[in-house]
Amino acid sequence: MSSRRAVTGGGAGGAAATRGDAMDDLRARAEGLFPGGVNSPVRAFGAVGRPPLVLAAGAGPRVRDADGRWYLDYIGSWGPAILGHAHPAVVEAVRAAALDGFALGATGPREVELGELVRAAMPSLERLRFTSSGTEAAMSAVRLARGATGRDLVVKFSGGYHGHSDGLLVEAGSGVATLAIPGSAGVPAAIASATIVVPYNDPDAVAAAFAAHPGRIAAVIVEPVAANAGVLPPAPGFLERLRAITMADGALLVFDEVITGFRVGPGGAQGRFGIRPDLTVLGKIVGGGMPVGAYGGRADLMGLVAPAGPVYQAGTLSGHPLAMAAGAATLRLLTPDRYDALEAAGARLEAGLRAAAAAAGTPVGITRVGSLLTVFFRSGAPATAEEAFAADRAAYARFFGAMLDAGVLLAPSPFEAWFLSLAHGEGELDETAAAAAAAFAAVEAGR
Ligand SMILES: *Cc1c(COP(=O)(O)O)cnc(C)c1O
Repeated sequence: MSSRRAVTGGGAGGAAATRGDAMDDLRARAEGLFPGGVNSPVRAFGAVGRPPLVLAAGAGPRVRDADGRWYLDYIGSWGPAILGHAHPAVVEAVRAAALDGFALGATGPREVELGELVRAAMPSLERLRFTSSGTEAAMSAVRLARGATGRDLVVKFSGGYHGHSDGLLVEAGSGVATLAIPGSAGVPAAIASATIVVPYNDPDAVAAAFAAHPGRIAAVIVEPVAANAGVLPPAPGFLERLRAITMADGALLVFDEVITGFRVGPGGAQGRFGIRPDLTVLGKIVGGGMPVGAYGGRADLMGLVAPAGPVYQAGTLSGHPLAMAAGAATLRLLTPDRYDALEAAGARLEAGLRAAAAAAGTPVGITRVGSLLTVFFRSGAPATAEEAFAADRAAYARFFGAMLDAGVLLAPSPFEAWFLSLAHGEGELDETAAAAAAAFAAVEAGR
């Protein structure tokens, strides 16, 4: 799979690739069009002090910039590209769907097919609904939790990302169990104050929030493996405590598996750790690289969603046939043995990175769950976002730059996961470890 170079690209990126200055031109035009030059903030390179890449094509484990240079890719479309880029089966499924027309404004066969695949893999989703993004799905799950419980407050964890809806774009207020403050300009304080932010991996803080607001919390929403502050594995017993605390108070447990779903195992984190949430939020892999989200869970709860019930939620392009086709083609290829392969690849890369850091004398904390990992420039693995954010950002920027110069593309932020794919073979993983050995040495040389 890793040797595929099917995509040669057309349009501006492909044609201009021979010029060698296409990227500068596109970057300048993007900066004149989009805030910060990007259509999503994570695509900016401000945190690593480099001009942002313009990526024109992807094939297997690699991506190609607009000047024609290829990189071994660990951004993975920020999660969806678990098969690598432009997998032939997914491309063919999308092509076939396109020939049937785009969204037709009614239920279609591909929604039913993908819905059944999802439920077969994650039985807690007795009923589900597709949306066009993870943001919408998380926002809708929270609305449903409030509608179902008649309660307003929601608990989330610092460093947890659940999309950019107002109530979930918040920061911790002062002190545990206090109400949150806006995490963005434009979020009303009144909306932020319906959310309580507590540290990840701190079940006592969750218990304290419930003790401070008994009978008032609708739901706890959690990434069962936090992956938006770098990868933070759940401490043993953490998810179990969340299940017990919510159940005892009549609140709902919402797993945001937008990243972990179909990533850390065939049944997501809930399958891997054996916890059954009331509601689950999906996105990324379930759309095979197309815009998608989904939420689902207990049939009695989902029965409250319009038009079956009083909780309104809708979407003109929800369940889009191209997205459904890409998702179904992806899930069909993710047989259980593929997760063994991802686990082995993750372990190989982790071992290579640990050896490289040790050889250079660089203190690192490496966290990993399956094919998700983060190298934190601090000694020891962090357990919370607060500990993660204390890592050495300048060291990461030097590491990132050295890796990029060696042809390995990491997330342009120290607090993101590395996303492995099934297209990353042993050769690519060893190439990465070799590049990392030199990059850690460059970090030490720069201190
Ligand atoms: C990416 C992400 C979202 C938001 O999904 P979008 O499709 O970007 O709106 C929500 N939750 C988690 C855990 C994510 O990583």
